[in-house]
Amino acid sequence: MTRIESPSSINTYHQCPRKYYYRYIAQLPTKKNIHQVRGNIVHSVLEEFFDINVEAIQKESYELQFKTIILDLLKQKWLEKKKDIFDLGLRSEEIGYYFTESQNMLLQWLDDFMDKLDEDNLVESFNELKPIREEEFVSEKHQVRGFIDAIHEGEEINLVDYKTSSRFEINNEIRLQLGIYALLYSEKNGKKPDKVTVNFLKFGEKEIEVTDELIEEAKEKCKNIQQVTRSKKADDYPMKEGPLCKWRTGQCDFYEHCFEKKDLKEKGT
Ligand code: SF4
Repeated sequence: MTRIESPSSINTYHQCPRKYYYRYIAQLPTKKNIHQVRGNIVHSVLEEFFDINVEAIQKESYELQFKTIILDLLKQKWLEKKKDIFDLGLRSEEIGYYFTESQNMLLQWLDDFMDKLDEDNLVESFNELKPIREEEFVSEKHQVRGFIDAIHEGEEINLVDYKTSSRFEINNEIRLQLGIYALLYSEKNGKKPDKVTVNFLKFGEKEIEVTDELIEEAKEKCKNIQQVTRSKKADDYPMKEGPLCKWRTGQCDFYEHCFEKKDLKEKGT
């Protein structure tokens, strides 16, 4: 039986086939970390920001009102995840650091957004800039799915992914993710998007043009993952030892299974 993959599962295989096995075949639990929890919070703020009633915003003080709204949303979402954050066992200064960093990212995003707004036509301009948000795409043909953070369908079609990471670079993993989004969008809508953009919330945007080559690469990777993940035996998924096994402040979720011989009952074997 084929599985529906995602950019994240395919990239996990490329990082380390054994990691893919533990996560997606054996379905071992993974630990949450602050980057995931914070990323989810920031994504939900950016999604809900566009639900505001813009007609109630006063033109004279719209900048201040938008700032208040986005920071209140962050506080609300942060409180909703309070238990998850507490369970990470971080020191209060560390939590404070991530909260402040999230505020700064959102305010930077808001500044860029307000630069594009036409303040003389606030409501119209806000609605024009409002993207389609968090849309799920599934391709039965290519056995892959993905959630696109923001889709702008104006004069040109632009698919945007938000990232809270501290690297300002479209690496191969991100390129594959964007290629898969372009593939999913094209298949569903019968036309290619013009570009795919990553909004690195800490730094700014980087975009790439959608070419046939980008989409073909994504198709090829989707096909390949189905071929190499048919087995349910751990031995068929080689370990790729490297910096992702253990680093100064942490280790791979499956380190103990790989290096400390923790028992594992293989599923379906
Ligand atoms: S510990 Fe290293 S070899 Fe083992 S699954 Fe994780 S990344 Fe792969």
